Amino acid sequence: MQFQSTRDPNTIVSSSEAILRGLAPDGGLFVPTAFPKAELEDWKSLSYPELAQKVLAGFLTDYDPAFLGEAAAATYGDAFAGKAGYVQKVHDGLYSLELWHGPTCAFKDYALQLMPKLLVQAKKNLGRTETTRILVATSGDTGKAALAGYAGLPGIEIEVFYPDAGTSEIQRLQMATQAGDNVSVYAVNGNFDDAQTGVKRVFGDASVAEELEKRNICLSSANSINWGRLVPQIVYYFYAYFRLVEQGNVAWGQPVDFCVPTGNFGDILAGYYAKQMGLPVGKLVCASNKNNVLTDFIKTGTYDARRTFYKTTSPSMDILISSNLERLLYHVSGSSAKVAGWMADLAKTGMYTVDAETLARIQASFACGCADDTAGAAEINARFEQDNYLCDTHTAVAFCVAETVRSAAPMVVLSTASPYKFPRDVLTALGETAPESDFAAMAALNVKTGCPVPASLSVLNTLPVRFNTVIEPAAIRDAALK
Ligand SMILES: *Cc1c(COP(=O)(O)O)cnc(C)c1O
Repeated sequence: MQFQSTRDPNTIVSSSEAILRGLAPDGGLFVPTAFPKAELEDWKSLSYPELAQKVLAGFLTDYDPAFLGEAAAATYGDAFAGKAGYVQKVHDGLYSLELWHGPTCAFKDYALQLMPKLLVQAKKNLGRTETTRILVATSGDTGKAALAGYAGLPGIEIEVFYPDAGTSEIQRLQMATQAGDNVSVYAVNGNFDDAQTGVKRVFGDASVAEELEKRNICLSSANSINWGRLVPQIVYYFYAYFRLVEQGNVAWGQPVDFCVPTGNFGDILAGYYAKQMGLPVGKLVCASNKNNVLTDFIKTGTYDARRTFYKTTSPSMDILISSNLERLLYHVSGSSAKVAGWMADLAKTGMYTVDAETLARIQASFACGCADDTAGAAEINARFEQDNYLCDTHTAVAFCVAETVRSAAPMVVLSTASPYKFPRDVLTALGETAPESDFAAMAALNVKTGCPVPASLSVLNTLPVRFNTVIEPAAIRDAALK
């Protein structure tokens, strides 16, 4: 399988190169040049690690399949407490794919526990011996998941940049207390887009690469623009479907809708790949919070980032530039020239409009909707009161939107974070007065709901804080060069 840039069909690389480089030199994203066919009958009874091996092997053809099997087994065994790809019925026809049973309690663990192993192996595959310095811009959850995945790995350094005051106390402490000699964490004075733009600028800056090359350091990314982040996420769409069939909730071959709380469009795009590989997916529902740039785009074909940025109670979805959408644009339009044009418009004017045919193809696979904080809070309360099901603020947005677009098809909501990552907002949504501290709120939420607190979160206030530097977005370059 080869990979090409979304902006230039002549930039062709292997999967190892796509994973090592992150971003194509022209600023585009690497996409597979074909979709491997799923073997649904053969795959339906596999364990999570076995299924992961099959999906990975279809795309990562320059990796040894035995290595992929070992990596998947090492990733999705104990670390996910036996709950990788766990599907919980909420009520008739509505299911929650709980993706937060990994070490950092957010779905990003699926990719970020595996990708470091893929990266180290990519370097071996390519005979590379330099130090890889990974720069990550995060709205909260990616940072910790990446730190946890890369800490202590040989030949790798990782630097994380998050928006100061843009994360929950728990999210900040998860990052600030990260152990490991090869990790650095910076708060950026700005929002997520400022951090992401700053990091992207460093990647595009030839003088940075040149300076680092003299020191035998090569930059790479762990953001969801990296192919190594996307491919592991395809697996759980298949796994969830097979479990629904096994439980007798879905007939073999019957289409299922998936509703995904969306920010950078990586999680939902993995569902699109699963569909292209042959999984019976009905609609992929793109759920946004008040930062509803994607809702407007999927409805109208105009992507307009020139709008107010809102800080919401679902901070991991507080995004105006949704990077992975570029991959979808390439797949549906089939034209890197068009994609390059739209992205140039976006960079220059803050907006672009796709042609009618491209929009129609997007609407054939995707539905959309948005829910603000008030609606999300009411949803948390409704699901708990009516279904005795507790969800976090991001998942709540998806439950809300799922109701507005539901057809007769079974609906799976991707539950992306543990409610205990956002305990104050969840507690408030349940009608309680939240204490000031996240830790007191965790305890109160536990008393109120009886749901167990993940151990990795309850220990956070006993760990030493290692990082508390706040920098301006312009200083990201210096940090990257340190
Ligand atoms: C990252 C994240 C999202 C958004 O996922 P994308 O792949 O960026 O669309 C949603 N919910 C939570 C909890 C997240 O951490």
